[in-house]
Amino acid sequence: MSVIVEQIKSRLDIADVVSAYLKLEKAGHNFRARCPFHNEKTPSFFVSPSRQNYHCFGCGKGGDLINFVEQIEGLDFMGALEVLAHRAGVPFDRGALKTDNTLDRLRTILEDATYFFESNLTNDESAQKYLSERGITTESIKKFRVGYAPDGWRVLSEYLLARRFNEEELVLAGLVIKKEDTGRVYDRFRGRIMFPITDAVGRVIGFSGRVIVTSEAEIAKYINTPQTTLYDKSVALFGIAHAKQAIRERDRVVLVEGQMDLVMAHQVGTTEAVAVSGTALTDRHLLALKRLSNNVIIAFDADSAGVTASRRAVDLALSLGLEVRMAPLPSGQDPADCIKTDSRIWLETLDKNIHAIDFYLAEIRRSETNPRTIKQRVSAEVVPAISRLPDALEQSHFVSKVAAAIGVSEMPLWEEVKKRIVPMPRVISRAESVEAQKVEAPVSRLSMIAEKLLGIYWWTNDDDILQQAGEYLITLKTKLMPRQNELALKAEITYNEPKRAMGEIRTLLLEFKREVLREELEQATKELRQAEELGNAEAVDSALKKCQDISQSLHLITL
Ligand SMILES: [Zn+2]
Repeated sequence: MSVIVEQIKSRLDIADVVSAYLKLEKAGHNFRARCPFHNEKTPSFFVSPSRQNYHCFGCGKGGDLINFVEQIEGLDFMGALEVLAHRAGVPFDRGALKTDNTLDRLRTILEDATYFFESNLTNDESAQKYLSERGITTESIKKFRVGYAPDGWRVLSEYLLARRFNEEELVLAGLVIKKEDTGRVYDRFRGRIMFPITDAVGRVIGFSGRVIVTSEAEIAKYINTPQTTLYDKSVALFGIAHAKQAIRERDRVVLVEGQMDLVMAHQVGTTEAVAVSGTALTDRHLLALKRLSNNVIIAFDADSAGVTASRRAVDLALSLGLEVRMAPLPSGQDPADCIKTDSRIWLETLDKNIHAIDFYLAEIRRSETNPRTIKQRVSAEVVPAISRLPDALEQSHFVSKVAAAIGVSEMPLWEEVKKRIVPMPRVISRAESVEAQKVEAPVSRLSMIAEKLLGIYWWTNDDDILQQAGEYLITLKTKLMPRQNELALKAEITYNEPKRAMGEIRTLLLEFKREVLREELEQATKELRQAEELGNAEAVDSALKKCQDISQSLHLITL
């Protein structure tokens, strides 16, 4: 395995890999970006081409290119290796490596099922006819690997069982349902257009199946894979693999509700669209999208239940500093219909997007006429959203706007907003809690200087630094070993050229020695006080002598 790691690292450059996900800015010999792992306004995420690693000085995440792919794609080590091996053109045989076989088997089953559905679509005229009537092109069918599940109880099961998967595995993949009484399994998806849902890398994790005939009222229009080891609807985003590049490039994401909407949107060039499937928008969807862009445009049918169901997520998104805007479609239309009828209306609607708070306000004013009810609803629905905006200027912008719109003065509105600011139902990511801890833990001046010195040492490999600083720094070196990469990168960012660091090293060494002496003096003073309290004259003498010696050495150090 280490051979594969070596090969990957020799063929890929970390800056190339990272720039596929983030916009990198040049910063000296390094690159800088806003951290994809925590919420920040000023960039503290650095990539070092010379060291082939990255580090965020805000949340502390860092590592090499494999760690980066693990973290950003949410993959395990093997998964990240697989993605990178593919990119580097290094042969990668997961089976030959020791790994958790179950996940592999599940992925293979889902891949085989996708292939099975795809080939069945080419044999089924009514399914093809349905898709073309909805306006979906052959290219889109190929791109999204749309398929068809034949209308039979065991067609897919028989196919997969013949390929030596067992029933238990088919259940785990979410493709079949096991009948309690007979213990027999039957296909979950029957007579449906099949949309494979993939992870961000493009590996199938589940399906969404849509009926063709909607006349039978008791049949659900969409059936989705249930929660499985691979599929979690509160995180999965349909189309993410095809959209992530465009989301980064255009710096915005368009959210639609259904699979059809998504395919049609991509078909007319809205390739930054993703769809939540079979669930309301959750905070986990939003956190995943926030890694790619800060701008979310929600293009749901204005009347749909989805808009209401997404309220909580929108409020959360606002508090995370995401810019949430709405592109409400003409009443009663979904994006798929709208695009099919006239794609220009769709594109115009997207362009005319409005801020979520304006949208909520307009929505209340449209549906209520009684001024008192309007005020009540504003206070219940709009004020909480305003209070979640992280920026005071933004808040004041909306306070004035809302006050003018509903005819109240700004002061009482402000009071209401302020009252709500504290209890914010925020999801605190691990990164943010790390940051909070960092602020609380006071860092001594000595350890700050030691970190700087060791950073320069690890960056330049100049042994002189250790020799001149003495024993104590060598002890600290062992202790700080786990932070080697971070500290070296920090030195590189601070000084850019080793020459500049060397110019400062004398001062740092003196400061270090002085701080060591200061701590020693503090210790000796404590000893002196103790000896005095105990009335031990001999101990007092020796402690006093020690204090004097240390202060003398301190005086000799001149910066
Ligand atoms: Zn960070």
